[in-house]
Amino acid sequence: MLINGAGIAGLALAWWLERDGHDVVLLERAEPGRAAGYMVDCQGDGYDAVDRMGLLPRLRRHAFTLSALVYHDPGGAVREVLPSDEVAAERLISLMRGDLEGALRDDLRGGDLRFGVGVDRLDDEGDRLAAVLTDGSVERADLLVGADGFRSHVRGLLFGSARHCVRELGFHAAAYSFTDAGLARSLDGAMHLVDAPGLQAGGYPVTGDDVSTLFIHRAPPATPRPEDPRRELRARYGHLGWLVPELLDRCPPPAAVHYDAVAQIELPAWHRGRAVLVGDACQAMSLLSGQGAGMALAGAAALADELRRDVPVGTALARYERRLRPRVRELQAEARATAEEFVP
Ligand SMILES: Cc1cc2nc3c(=O)[nH]c(=O)nc-3n(C[C@H](O)[C@H](O)[C@H](O)COP(=O)(O)OP(=O)(O)OC[C@H]3O[C@@H](n4cnc5c(N)ncnc54)[C@H](O)[C@@H]3O)c2cc1C
Repeated sequence: MLINGAGIAGLALAWWLERDGHDVVLLERAEPGRAAGYMVDCQGDGYDAVDRMGLLPRLRRHAFTLSALVYHDPGGAVREVLPSDEVAAERLISLMRGDLEGALRDDLRGGDLRFGVGVDRLDDEGDRLAAVLTDGSVERADLLVGADGFRSHVRGLLFGSARHCVRELGFHAAAYSFTDAGLARSLDGAMHLVDAPGLQAGGYPVTGDDVSTLFIHRAPPATPRPEDPRRELRARYGHLGWLVPELLDRCPPPAAVHYDAVAQIELPAWHRGRAVLVGDACQAMSLLSGQGAGMALAGAAALADELRRDVPVGTALARYERRLRPRVRELQAEARATAEEFVP
C-alpha cells in the first residue's frame, strides 16, 4: 500500500494498515521536523478513533487546557471572559497538530516513511498502480491512498482541476507558533481573541514557553493567497491593540506560517480504481468546524476497517465512502452555518 502524505490521516491509516499486516510505504513531501503548527481539538469521532487506537494516554502527555476565552475590543480592552468550564466539552483533547502527528509517528511499527518526496504521476497497470515519485523512482502498489491534505496532488491526478471541488467560505486564515516565555506568561493560560470588523486575531499559550496564534479575516472566494504572509498579516492586523503587535513581530518566515483560504472539499467520488482519498483531501470541512483532524482520524479508521473485510478492493472503497459521507456532509453544513455568523 502506498500512502501519499504523512499528516494526521496518512499516519493514522499507516498505523492501522501495519497492524493489519500490510506493507506500507508512506511518502511525505515536507522535510522532517516541521513546526508544531496550531492547536487541534480532537473531539467526537476523532476522540473515539484515538481511544480505539489506545493512544489517549500518550496524547494526554501533550494535551493542555486553556483556562478561559477572553474577548478584547479592537483597542485591547477586555469585553468578555468565558471560563473554560463553560465552553468545555466531554470527550475532547486539545494538543498541537505536530504533537498529534508525532504521537502517531512514534507508534508506527517500523514501516517505510520517506520524507521530502511524494507521488508525481500515476500509471494504471491493471492489477497494480505504478506511481512515479518526485525523485524519479517508481513505486508499484495494490492501493494508492491520497492523504495529502486540502490541496491534494493525488486528488488532482484522479479527478482533475481543484476548481470544481473547493468551496471557499469567504475567509483567509493564518496560524503560527513561536517561543517567548514572557509573552506566554502574560497570556495567563487563556485564549485571547481581538475582534474588529471583518477580522479576528488570537493568541494562546501552549506547551512549554510556546505561544500560538490564529488570524482570520474576510476574503471573498478566489482571493489569491499572498506571497508573503508576514507582510499581509501586518497590513491587515497591525492596527489592532492588546498584544497583536507583539504577535505580529514574532511571525516566522513564510514556510513556518500556515496561511490558506478557509474552505471545504466536496467531491462526487472519493475513490477511483485502485486509488482512494482520505482526510482533508476528500472531506476538508475547514477550521471553523473544529473537526477536520478528528474526522481525518475517523476516516483512516473507517478505511482500514473496510479494507480488512474479505471483499474486492472496489467494494471496500465504496463501503468506506458510504459510511463516512453522511457525517462529513453534516459537519460541513455546520461549519458553513458558523461561517455565516463568524467575524463581525
Ligand atoms: C488553524 C487551524 C486550526 C484547526 N483546528 C482544528 C481543530 O481544533 N480540530 C480539528 O479536528 N481540526 C482542526 N483543523 C483542521 C485540521 O488541521 C485538518 O483537518 C487536518 O490536519 C487534516 O489532516 P490530513 O492528514 O487530512 O491533512 P494534513 O494535516 O494537511 O496533512 C497532509 C500531509 O500531506 C503532505 N503533503 C501535501 N502534499 C503532498 C504531496 N504532494 N506529496 C506528499 N505529501 C504531501 C503534507 O505535508 C501533510 O503532511 C484546523 C486547521 C487549521 C488550519
